[in-house]
Amino acid sequence: MPDSFSHTSASMPLRDPFGREITYLRLSVTDRCDLRCRYCMAEHMTFLPKPEVLTLEEMLSLSRAFMERGVRRIRLTGGEPLVRKNILWLIEQLGEEVKRGNLDEITLTTNGTQLAHMAQKLAQFGLRRVNVSLDTLDPQKFATITRRDRLEDVLNGIKAARDAGIRVKINTVALKGNNEAELPDILDWCISEDLDLTLIETMPLGEVADARENHYLPLTAVLPRLETRWKLTPSDHRTGGPARYYTIVETGRKLGLITPLTGNFCDGCNRVRVTCTGRIYMCLGQDDHVDLRAALRSDNPQANLHSALDRAIGAKPKGHDFAMAEGRMVGQVNRHMSHTGG
Ligand code: SAM
Ligand code: SF4
Repeated sequence: MPDSFSHTSASMPLRDPFGREITYLRLSVTDRCDLRCRYCMAEHMTFLPKPEVLTLEEMLSLSRAFMERGVRRIRLTGGEPLVRKNILWLIEQLGEEVKRGNLDEITLTTNGTQLAHMAQKLAQFGLRRVNVSLDTLDPQKFATITRRDRLEDVLNGIKAARDAGIRVKINTVALKGNNEAELPDILDWCISEDLDLTLIETMPLGEVADARENHYLPLTAVLPRLETRWKLTPSDHRTGGPARYYTIVETGRKLGLITPLTGNFCDGCNRVRVTCTGRIYMCLGQDDHVDLRAALRSDNPQANLHSALDRAIGAKPKGHDFAMAEGRMVGQVNRHMSHTGG
């Protein structure tokens, strides 16, 4: 670890006003994507001009500052992280930090389209686990949800990742009237393919073409359907993340549920998110943020970065305000998930 700066808080853990220690960073490496999922993006998105986006070198410096403050896991996300030019360089550098013992893990959330040609390198650079977002196994539905006909690429990508020895978890957003009836089949498929599955409720993030309520499917309504096929028992398993787990009794495997609307998960929150422009958002569901890019590009980046981190963590809110009230989704924030990093 570099120790060439004198800011006093540089080695202090990041602890928020509610006593929660921040050990997990989700870093969005780009706002761009090769899909256009309807609940995430508009069809015609305006992407950020290049100078606004952090360089990969800046992202590495930022990651190291977080490591100095006790962050042990970094997840790269986006947009689609694997469409960022030279992203393998950053992954290799962070993989080296894992080897040096400065990080426990480097992971990735991806739509899987690029995995087929990148999986070998990712494994070589130390990626052990990857989350692949996949909402349907039906090619037509896939094309409808993502506005792109790429299911085959994603399935090939999942296979390539597994062949390279990377553990794959599937993330599926539950969508009313869309993949709703298919969710038990997706669970069956994951079990037969030896993949973990986490189901997610849609959240009101950014403007999209359809009203959010039209797609919203509470996971409380999904569970009984899954239980017609599998015996599910609530599990105490926790990862410090938002998921709550059920054990699938027949297989011993875990099913994760992320329920921002039907069950708030903020109590044990250990994470912050940094956008590709270097804004740190202390909560996915709140607008408070601090600009780390200004600190990074200042005359004294190390000291300024650490004091910006202190300010940010000191302002971490207790939780999000997403909720359903009288059939309407409330607590909306104006950023798209692709901007903050899912
Ligand atoms: N492109 C990558 C992917 O799709 O995995 C990484 C970024 S994406 C924004 C991360 C996750 O956020 C995906 O699993 C996606 O399904 C989820 N997501 C996007 N918008 C969402 C929303 N409004 N509510 C809930 N989940 C959302
Ligand atoms: Fe792209 Fe991921 Fe958003 Fe889909 S969910 S549009 S794959 S960033």
